[in-house]
Amino acid sequence: VLNRKGDVVASAVTNLDLHDIARAARTYGVRRFYVVTPLEDQRQIVLRIITHWTEGAGGRLNPLRKEALARIRLTQNLAEAAADVEVDAGAAPLTVATSAAPQRKTIGFSQLRHRVHNGSPVLLIFGTAWGLAEEALDDCDALLAPIAGNNGYNHLSVRSAAAIIFDRILSPENHPGQG
Ligand code: SAM
Repeated sequence: VLNRKGDVVASAVTNLDLHDIARAARTYGVRRFYVVTPLEDQRQIVLRIITHWTEGAGGRLNPLRKEALARIRLTQNLAEAAADVEVDAGAAPLTVATSAAPQRKTIGFSQLRHRVHNGSPVLLIFGTAWGLAEEALDDCDALLAPIAGNNGYNHLSVRSAAAIIFDRILSPENHPGQG
């Protein structure tokens, strides 16, 4: 991802993102939520949090949270996440990056929705810090059209962006938002 100066960096993982994205993923039937970081210390922290809520005291106190956080997988890079999806789904996923900025070769929400509802695996990629670096975007098969908002400002937190995108792609056919 990028930092505010535009350098490529690995960012710290946010506890709030783990909980909120895992719950949204569970709500919409997203099979796995990969937390991707090359930083060993960050992986240790994430592992401690997941273990607390899935195997430790947290899981006994809050089974719904346990069910959500149990779908988190930790990987060192995106290729490892894509390889895991391929083993799970039996086919390589379409890798789709997300960004608030308009991009080239975008795939629309309805196109992606159609693909997912046909059972094809998709790996949706979200950024942190100042967003995904150019090389991460270049490595993906496609870029999802940005969520536009309604007044020109569309810089969402990653957990809000994930929840909105899950709803657009995975909500049932007769959902009011599908008009
Ligand atoms: N510090 C921020 C936070 O609190 O989450 C991280 C910002 S990070 C740039 C937000 C990520 O969410 C982006 O990299 C992108 O994956 C996604 N995102 C944010 N706004 C979006 C939008 N309008 N359309 C699509 N994706 C968006």
